[in-house]
Amino acid sequence: MTSNDLLAKSKKHLWLPFTQMSDYEKDPLIIESGNGVYLKDIEGNTYLDGYSSLWLNVHGHRKKEIDEAIEKQLQLIAHSTLLGAANIPSIQLAEKLVELAPEAITRVFYSDSGAEAVEIAVKMAYQYWQNRGYENKKSFVTLSNGYHGDTVGTMSVGSIELYHKVYTSLLFDAIVIPFPASKEEQTESDLCRESLKQLRELFEAKHEEIAGITVEALIQGAGGMNLMPKGYLKGVEQLCKEFHILLIVDEVATGFGRTGKMFAVEHENVQPDIMTVAKGITGGYLPIAATLTQEHIYEAFYGEYTDLKTFFHGHSYTGNQLGCAAALANLEIFEKENIIQQVEEKALFLEEQLKHVAELEFVGAVRQLGLMCGIQLVQHKRTSEPFPWEQRVAYRSTLKMRALGMLTRPLGDVIVLMPPLAATNDQLKQMVDIMKEGIMEAATECLE
Ligand code: PLP
Repeated sequence: MTSNDLLAKSKKHLWLPFTQMSDYEKDPLIIESGNGVYLKDIEGNTYLDGYSSLWLNVHGHRKKEIDEAIEKQLQLIAHSTLLGAANIPSIQLAEKLVELAPEAITRVFYSDSGAEAVEIAVKMAYQYWQNRGYENKKSFVTLSNGYHGDTVGTMSVGSIELYHKVYTSLLFDAIVIPFPASKEEQTESDLCRESLKQLRELFEAKHEEIAGITVEALIQGAGGMNLMPKGYLKGVEQLCKEFHILLIVDEVATGFGRTGKMFAVEHENVQPDIMTVAKGITGGYLPIAATLTQEHIYEAFYGEYTDLKTFFHGHSYTGNQLGCAAALANLEIFEKENIIQQVEEKALFLEEQLKHVAELEFVGAVRQLGLMCGIQLVQHKRTSEPFPWEQRVAYRSTLKMRALGMLTRPLGDVIVLMPPLAATNDQLKQMVDIMKEGIMEAATECLE
């Protein structure tokens, strides 16, 4: 098939996720191959993968060890169901995840996407209290601007207005508390103390009806790369313990080295009751996700089938052998290549580079944790006035960046920079240079 045929057929038959197809029709893109941190389209153009193919690629594309692990697993079997029957890679991976996760985690429940891992966490937390006879504990607390996925359950515990308002009447009510966003007049520790005080008041008033709180680990991803004040997540953990509320930490975006630790909770030594992981788990190869729990969660579901305590959840491809084999190979590379230490060093280098981005007239803020960054665009640095929504300045900037040789995606007026952890300092610098040029071109055009 020629590239023109492919383009025409993609426009005729495909319907892409989270995509307005009129945008795709104007600026189509078809990826043919990848190597390291580069992607190549059907016309032979190469691009730096500035968003890790949606925040999940870790060691680069076509990493030999992961390719080989999948091929080796294929010689045995591609998939058999996990419903009532385990498989070897799923056992090995569960052991590895428990070894890497916070100390209190002992159990692994598999699924196929980040949203499903959170959906499972919410169902588990709800049923946990029902199984233990606390029938009133049914509500969930969540932070404003949080994103936990696009299913009906995960949208209910999320609160990104743009994505969610269309579906409002489908969603169950969650208690939304303000994200502890920094304000100029407040110090980080005051913000943390004040936010935790408000949470304590809520828990004091409503703990008998609250099952759990869902929270992204230290940094909100899709909400615009918003950083929590230091100590906030630790404080939430303590309040959850005090008021018997389950702490569900979503590490879908932050897990597997992204923030400079294997899991972001390690920055504050937080022990979630339930923790969700996905994205980087297979190095960006195959759809595996997991909901990790402490033993007391598992125990609340243990009994006779007739008790109705069983956890009723599981999909056809859950615990897929190929995915688990890829994940095991991915995690071995972390150890073999000392990836976590490398990320810490690269993050410092990137921080230096991003200072040049922060100086741009159209950049209101640069937010970074490890190799997870968001660049907030504004009309004028001095006034922090946003661009009119209809101008889609961040989207236009990403199109400019595409033309300059890098792919990434916008989040409202924020541009994401989430390079594969394998990116070298040179490649990080190239990404930042492209980003600066793309922002300047698009923002200037928007003001014309
Ligand atoms: N949770 C968080 C924090 C995320 O960032 C995402 C996706 O970006 C999800 C859940 C949903 O993951 P998935 O897209 O794999 O369903």
